[in-house]
Amino acid sequence: MISAAPFPNRPLTVAVLGASGAVGQELLQLLEERNFPVSELRLLASARSAGSRCSWKGQELVVQETTAQAFEGVDLVLASAGGSVSKAWREAIVASGAVMVDNSSAFRMEDGVPLVVPEVNPSAAHQHQGVIANPNCTTILLSLALAPLASRRPLRRVVVSTYQSASGAGARAMDELRDLSRVVLDGGTPTSEVLPHSLAFNLFLHNSPLQSNGYCEEELKMVNETRKIMGIPDLRFTATCVRVPVLRAHSEAVNVEFHEPFSVEEARSLLASAPGVELLDDSAHNRFPMPTDVTGRDPVMVGRIRQDISEPNALEFWLCGDQIRKGAALNAIQIAELLLPSV
Ligand code: NAP
Repeated sequence: MISAAPFPNRPLTVAVLGASGAVGQELLQLLEERNFPVSELRLLASARSAGSRCSWKGQELVVQETTAQAFEGVDLVLASAGGSVSKAWREAIVASGAVMVDNSSAFRMEDGVPLVVPEVNPSAAHQHQGVIANPNCTTILLSLALAPLASRRPLRRVVVSTYQSASGAGARAMDELRDLSRVVLDGGTPTSEVLPHSLAFNLFLHNSPLQSNGYCEEELKMVNETRKIMGIPDLRFTATCVRVPVLRAHSEAVNVEFHEPFSVEEARSLLASAPGVELLDDSAHNRFPMPTDVTGRDPVMVGRIRQDISEPNALEFWLCGDQIRKGAALNAIQIAELLLPSV
């Protein structure tokens, strides 16, 4: 396969599609924080937030309604406006010569569209034909922890339960959790409009559409995307995804089975030095990762690594990661960084 050319060796014209959303706002912050080489930044959204203002690197930028002209002369589009919006603008973006790094699920399983976690399969990014997909947030977080273990011994089976925060459903779901929590504390009855049920002092199975096999879409995304990223098409994998009343950052309880025993000590040492992973495995003080430990931070924190008492070849562990950051915006910008010319 022929590798795509890197970005030109100059600051880039970058468009953020979905700039007013939860992921879009994080993208703006990270472009600034990581000093990504930007000559012009275009903020795009729907007519609803056109005209609103965001400050970026000391300048005030105005959000524009998305049009085909908005992509002219753009080098990089960071898209986080949902699958239907990405599908609607893909042709215009690719025709303009830009590379689209897309946060939605629209193209993730499409042949010819790399699905990339830079710490796991960076070389895939160079095989793009104009579009690179950012994986599902829970999948990105999990793959960071699975990859170092899989590099030592082949995986046999993975069983995951997720504890996904309100922010995974966007900025309005976070507002709804705050508002409905106040309603409950004041003795009222919460009524949800953004999520299908009130998340205040509650939890429910992930609200993505149910499939005929009884799994929801989110669970199957984890299965299929993990297989594609890790290059293990027949990986045995099952997941249960749950929405929990946490404002920001997802957690996952993971059981990984190998074909032979894998010691806790070896797993701990591999994860302690794995890129993008931070180990917090302090049994003496009962201190393991929590969503608040990772909120606003880059690494995926892993801990509570233990031998599965029901299966000698399996390990259990727990992880937390900020899914707006590493699970979405940071991973997307790291993908774009892979395409910068090496100096
Ligand atoms: P969000 O907070 O609801 O933001 C959605 C953004 O899309 C807003 O900027 C919105 O603009 C824009 N938008 C909506 N309809 C549009 C249209 N017709 N044309 C142009 N822009 C439009 O959602 P989010 O959580 O940031 O998620 C965005 C995408 O990232 C989704 O595909 C989501 O699945 C994916 N993702 C999210 C997370 C997460 O943790 N939140 C993680 C991984 C991936 P207006 O303000 O004008 O409505």
